Amino acid sequence: MTDGPTRVSGDLIIRDAHVLDPASGLDGIADVRLSDGRVAEVGENLRGTRRLDADGLHLFPGFVDVHAHWRTPGREDEETIETGSAAAAAGGFTSVVMMPNTDPIVDRPVVVSGLVRRVERESRVRAYVSAALHEGLEGERLTEMRLLKEAGAFCVSDDGLGTQSAGVLRNAMLYAKSAGLPVILHCEDHTLATGVVHDGVAAALAGMPGSPGSAEDVATATALVLATETGARVHVTHVSTALSAALVGFFKGRGDITADTTPHHLTLTDDLVGTLEGLYRVNPPLRPDADRLDVGKALKDGILDFVATDHAPHASEEKELPLEEAAPGFLGHETAFSALYTELVAKPGGRLSLSRLVETMACTPGRWVKGGAYGISPGAPADLTLVDLSEQWTVRAEALVSRSSNSPYLGRRLEGRVVGTMVGGELVYDGMGARFGARV
Ligand SMILES: [Zn+2]
Ligand SMILES: [Zn+2]
Repeated sequence: MTDGPTRVSGDLIIRDAHVLDPASGLDGIADVRLSDGRVAEVGENLRGTRRLDADGLHLFPGFVDVHAHWRTPGREDEETIETGSAAAAAGGFTSVVMMPNTDPIVDRPVVVSGLVRRVERESRVRAYVSAALHEGLEGERLTEMRLLKEAGAFCVSDDGLGTQSAGVLRNAMLYAKSAGLPVILHCEDHTLATGVVHDGVAAALAGMPGSPGSAEDVATATALVLATETGARVHVTHVSTALSAALVGFFKGRGDITADTTPHHLTLTDDLVGTLEGLYRVNPPLRPDADRLDVGKALKDGILDFVATDHAPHASEEKELPLEEAAPGFLGHETAFSALYTELVAKPGGRLSLSRLVETMACTPGRWVKGGAYGISPGAPADLTLVDLSEQWTVRAEALVSRSSNSPYLGRRLEGRVVGTMVGGELVYDGMGARFGARV
């Protein structure tokens, strides 16, 4: 990648890319003209001061990730806003929501405003701050959500822990609604989630303590019932079981409810528990193939709205441990598109269309974050992702942009690769080589 963002002056023509944007109904070879950081025109034989030859590449609306841990403040040895946003850019993400389980926790307005200022200085992509729902993420005292919003918080979440009391969660939803903040929920019941992996055949064979799928399902059901009753804007993140996906389907339309699942829950299963490697510990845990398939079908059918990575960097001393002792979490930004494209689209009998994949990585999460249409259309910010679907690559720790290397795809060969990412018309990731040219 380049040492820094490449400033693009004058009108830039992205020439001959296959433009695919389900939101705008675009699906074919076209030129796209960018001007003043925005999309100016989509058409044929467009003219401008500079050109980018995108022949053979696909151009998508920039990917949007509503769930990431950039570990700042507090664990800058694992990730920073600079490295997290660079990893996001390398994965084609142009907007990211940062989770609040940092040190200090993002539960006070001064921490929010400090982060907002740092994002402006240090982030390569657009980054939004999620504040905590409860002080210290402890599920007891509500945070001052109105003040957090005034300080720049975009949403609230107790991600990583999940609120354990239904009464407390109901109050939190009511307050978030009155403060005008969406709530992102990590659904996990701690009285059931007592193990380190999914409680199934793989856990039994490995002799590992398991947590049943009900640990997620019970908490998801509670959250959805309360979302329906309160009318709060509730987003259930990292849905990983067949039953939780079905519950989202049942409650959809009864409240202001959306849900996502992750690339790893869509592509990996609890078979990896058999390796006993700490690298494969994650929350919620990897599930059996039947769950993976049903969750994928729910994404395909629109019951689950979109994909979010839960990008969770960890230092190697926290992951290179036996499963029971390792910290839960995977890197996500840099492999999300390629893993999903490889496993769900490109494989013979692939279960997801490329168009639906783009919808779930860009258009739908984009609409959720921006609150309006999100795609490649005249006047829209030029947040764009260029992908080479023909490129194959092997995930290597030393080549990752993230400061950490805990990717569950290490050593895997993936198809399709992000080669360029633009935010507001500015090239924030350039893996294209010499495709820029002068006036056309
Ligand atoms: Zn979580
Ligand atoms: Zn998370």
